[in-house]
Amino acid sequence: MDYLVVALVILAVLLVAALGLVTLRRRPAPPPPPPAAERVEVTVVEPEVTVTPPETVVEAPPEVVEAPPPVLERPEPTAGRLVRLRARLARSQNLFSKGLLGLLSHDRLDDEAWEEVEDSLIGADVGVEATREIVARLRERTRILGTRSQAELRGLLAEELVAALDPTMDRSLRADPVGGRPAVLLVVGVNGSGKTTTCGKIARVLVADGHSVVLGAADTFRAAAADQLATWAERVGAEVVRGPEGADPAAVAYDAVRRGIEAGVDTVLVDTAGRLQNKVGLMDELGKVKRVVEKHGPVTETLLVLDATTGQNGLEQARVFTDVVNVTGVVLTKLDGTAKGGIVIAVQRKLGIPVKLVGLGEGPDDLAPFDPEQFVDALLGAPA
Ligand code: GDP
Repeated sequence: MDYLVVALVILAVLLVAALGLVTLRRRPAPPPPPPAAERVEVTVVEPEVTVTPPETVVEAPPEVVEAPPPVLERPEPTAGRLVRLRARLARSQNLFSKGLLGLLSHDRLDDEAWEEVEDSLIGADVGVEATREIVARLRERTRILGTRSQAELRGLLAEELVAALDPTMDRSLRADPVGGRPAVLLVVGVNGSGKTTTCGKIARVLVADGHSVVLGAADTFRAAAADQLATWAERVGAEVVRGPEGADPAAVAYDAVRRGIEAGVDTVLVDTAGRLQNKVGLMDELGKVKRVVEKHGPVTETLLVLDATTGQNGLEQARVFTDVVNVTGVVLTKLDGTAKGGIVIAVQRKLGIPVKLVGLGEGPDDLAPFDPEQFVDALLGAPA
């Protein structure tokens, strides 16, 4: 009996132990803590979900709106511009008509009368030498012809002024291709003379006359010059070749001509740097620009831009330029801003180079081909 009890107790103990083991095995192990990196990932993802606005999801992708092509301007034809702009010469006109009135106000055409004419012409920057010659011829002709009426005197003075401007000079721009290569026009002059503006206006003149044009922004020292030129070019659909600020002007000029040849355009127009003319460096640089450009072929025209308001000083500047480059034509700017339109006569006479274009305002088409007869007609005002 005792054995039986002992056996039962042992059996019960084994049973309890076995049950305990089973229970222990079935309890799941606590999950290991997630690695730190996983936790970070979750915090990054969560805000993404909540921050994304619902409309971004449903919205159609934004439409790509292309900028409209620039509206090209149609420059005014060049013929008749000088006539249209004649009123801009009103200030000079006053001086010249004062000279004429001086003659008419005297009963006799005596020395005093002729001195008044001389003073008016010298005051209008015609230059002392040219004035003396003009007045001497006028005196002689009026004496021989017995001229006295206002219309006759005006006619004679006009003839003498036109003769002083030498109407036989060739004033055409050499802007047509030569031997299958574009014409190359260099535009030179001191800063402030209106060089870059004139380049832009010439580009318009050429486009108006049916030429295709590439512009070279070789004034790399004046920060705004290239932008200024690019704006002018954009308006007429011309291409601009430019370099970084401070780039070698000769390199830019060379590239511009190369581009013009590649593109097969009619004319390459190069704006050059124009720091003070008395700096040897600038003049050397200008000579270099010309030499480098001429590796492609000859420069067909070198235009010197002169500010008419600088009068005789402008002539000094001009000499420095003509010493370095072979200037073939003069552009006289700002004639609208001076009473000294006679400077045209002085410039031509001193330099022996034709004035080819005149600037008569800041507007894009305020540049006119120069014509001696129309110009003198504008200077003297309406005939009586
Ligand atoms: P640059 O330094 O020689 O290139 O000179 P810009 O081309 O920048 O011109 C200097 C200033 O002269 C500008 O304000 C132009 O608008 C002005 N200008 C140029 N040509 C004429 C002109 O024929 N008449 C007038 N009134 N102003 C002009």
